[in-house]
Amino acid sequence: MLCTVCGGTEFTAQPVLWPELIDQWQLSPAEVAYVDCQQGECCSSCGANLRSIALANALRAVVGTPQVLRDFVGSAEAGPIHILELNEAGTLNPVLSRMPCHVFGAYPQVDMHALPWPDETFDIVVHSDTLEHVPDPVHALVECRRVLKPTGTLCLTVPIIVGRMTRGRAGLSKSYHGNPQQNGDDYVVHTEFGADAWCLIFEAGYSDVTIFPVAYPAALAIAARR
Ligand SMILES: [Zn+2]
Repeated sequence: MLCTVCGGTEFTAQPVLWPELIDQWQLSPAEVAYVDCQQGECCSSCGANLRSIALANALRAVVGTPQVLRDFVGSAEAGPIHILELNEAGTLNPVLSRMPCHVFGAYPQVDMHALPWPDETFDIVVHSDTLEHVPDPVHALVECRRVLKPTGTLCLTVPIIVGRMTRGRAGLSKSYHGNPQQNGDDYVVHTEFGADAWCLIFEAGYSDVTIFPVAYPAALAIAARR
């Protein structure tokens, strides 16, 4: 396998799920295996996990480059691209930050329900494993679409369990990604995404959805044209 972030070919793996989360999510052993693969298998050179690589592939397709992402961001073609990164997009943050027209915003200063930028500002909006923590994911997607130029594209990842449908966690016990003792309610999960995750994107008004798999079903990234 090739790391399309840096060009590396060596990978190391470690499990990332813990028993309480497996129980809350009611994950099967096969689902545990692929989520661990998605989050825990990392490029030995740059540390990108499979979801970051899937997201890099979505970004590379959107800009139409055959280069690995680290090379592309330093190229002349990357210069004029206005890109908004919301919350650190995993290991891609230091790479994307090298683009001259890169803008970064993070919760709680920047709320996805009320983005502090005018309409039609960006060519690309990118976020990774953020949407499941937002109270109203369709509204957050509408906000991302609002700040995209008419030719713009949203690139994102969300954790998707492909064998089930999307469900809100309202009324269920609180579930967290990361350590709740450390992170408080910022990391609480509002939505568990399933095989119909793409429906929310069309509900938010996007015209086109493309899904980029890496080691399916381990890691999926989505590109949605405004
Ligand atoms: Zn890499």
